[in-house]
Amino acid sequence: MPLKRILVTGGAGFLGSHLCERLIEQQHDVICLDNFFTSQKSNVVHLLDHANFELVRHDVTHPIWLEVDEVFNLACPAAPGHYQFNPIKTMKTSVMGAINVLGMAKRCHAKVLQASTSEVYGDPEIHPQPESYRGSVNPIGPRACYDEGKRAAETLFMDYHRSNRVNVRIVRIFNTYGPRMHPFDGRVVSNFIRQALHGEDITIFGDGSQTRSFCYRDDLVEGMIRMMNGPDDFIGPVNIGNPGEFTILELAKQVIEMTGSKSKLVHRPLPADDPTQRQPDITLAREKLGWEPKIKLRDGLEKTIAWFKTVKLEDFRAPTPNY
Ligand code: NAD
Ligand code: UDP
Repeated sequence: MPLKRILVTGGAGFLGSHLCERLIEQQHDVICLDNFFTSQKSNVVHLLDHANFELVRHDVTHPIWLEVDEVFNLACPAAPGHYQFNPIKTMKTSVMGAINVLGMAKRCHAKVLQASTSEVYGDPEIHPQPESYRGSVNPIGPRACYDEGKRAAETLFMDYHRSNRVNVRIVRIFNTYGPRMHPFDGRVVSNFIRQALHGEDITIFGDGSQTRSFCYRDDLVEGMIRMMNGPDDFIGPVNIGNPGEFTILELAKQVIEMTGSKSKLVHRPLPADDPTQRQPDITLAREKLGWEPKIKLRDGLEKTIAWFKTVKLEDFRAPTPNY
C-alpha cells in the first residue's frame, strides 16, 4: 500500500484516536484535527512524539487548508448528552464541517470518508436496517440536530461526488463502545460501567426493553479502513456495526455480572424519540468489503471494563459553553 498523508477530523475522540493509531501503525503520515469539544488530549498524547503524527487544534466549522491524500471526517459530538449540549453547533459541525472537508478534498483531490450513523434511520420501522431503508427521523425533536445534521452531510457527500467528482465514502456506524469512551458522555455502555464500578445505581431509561447492537471499537475501525481502501465504485453508504442485538436490561445485567457490582437497577423516564430497536443489516459490508465484526460483546466489555478501572474520573472534562 503506498504511504499517504491522512487527515482525521475528530482524531482526538474515542474512535478517532484509535483510528490515528491504526494509520500510524500502517506507516502513514497522520494529521489529527480536533477542537477537543468532547475529548481529552490524553487520548493522543502518547502519539505526540511519533514522527508520523501531527496534532492541529481547529474547529471544522471553519475552512481547513491542508494538503492531504485522504480524509476521515469524524468531527462531531456523538453521544446524545454531548450533541444536545449545543444543538445548533452540532448541526453546524455536521453541515459546515462536511462542506469544509469536501471543499478541501475537491481542491487537493483527496478521497474523503464520512462517519455517518445509524441515527439516519431514526426510530426504524424496518428491522434489521438495510442501507436502502430511508429512515424515520423526527425532524423537530431533540435528536434532530444530530440525525438531520448527519443526513444533510450524506447529501453533501453525494452531491460533491456527483457534481464535482470528489472521491467519497460513507459509513453508517452503529453503537460502538470500547476504551477511551468519555466516562460522562451519558451513553449506555459508559454510564453502566461507570455506575457499576462506583457502586452507583444503574439508570435504565424506560422499561429497558429497547434494543441496541453493540460493536467493539477495533472491529469498527477495521471496517472504516476497509471502506476507505475499497474499490472506487463502492462509495456506500454501508452499515458498519455488530448485528448482535441486546435489550438495555440485558446489557445492564451483563455489566453487573462482569463487574461483580452491588449496584441496583433504577428506572428513569425514556428520553423523547429514543429508538425502540436497532440492528444493522451488514450484508453489504460482508459482500463488498469482506468485513464482519469478530469481537463478541462479553470480550469487548471485558476490555472496556479493564480500561475504565484504570482511569481517574476527575481527569475528564464536560463540554463547556465556549464551544
Ligand atoms: P467523540 O465525541 O469521542 O469524538 C468526536 C470528536 O470530534 C471529539 O474529539 C470532539 O472533540 C471532536 N469535535 C466535535 N466537534 C468538533 C468541531 N466542531 N471541530 C473539530 N472537532 C470537533 O465520539 P466518537 O464516538 O469517537 O464519534 C466519532 C464519529 O463517529 C462522530 O462523527 C460520530 O457521529 C460517529 N459515530 C459514532 C458512533 C459511536 O457509537 N461511537 C455511532 C455512530 C456514529
Ligand atoms: N440508556 C439507558 N441508561 C443510560 C443511558 C442510556 O437506559 O444511562 C438507554 C437509552 O435510552 C437508549 C440506549 O440506552 O435506549 C442507548 O443509549 P445511547 O445514548 O448509548 O445511544 P443511542 O440512543 O444514541 O443509540
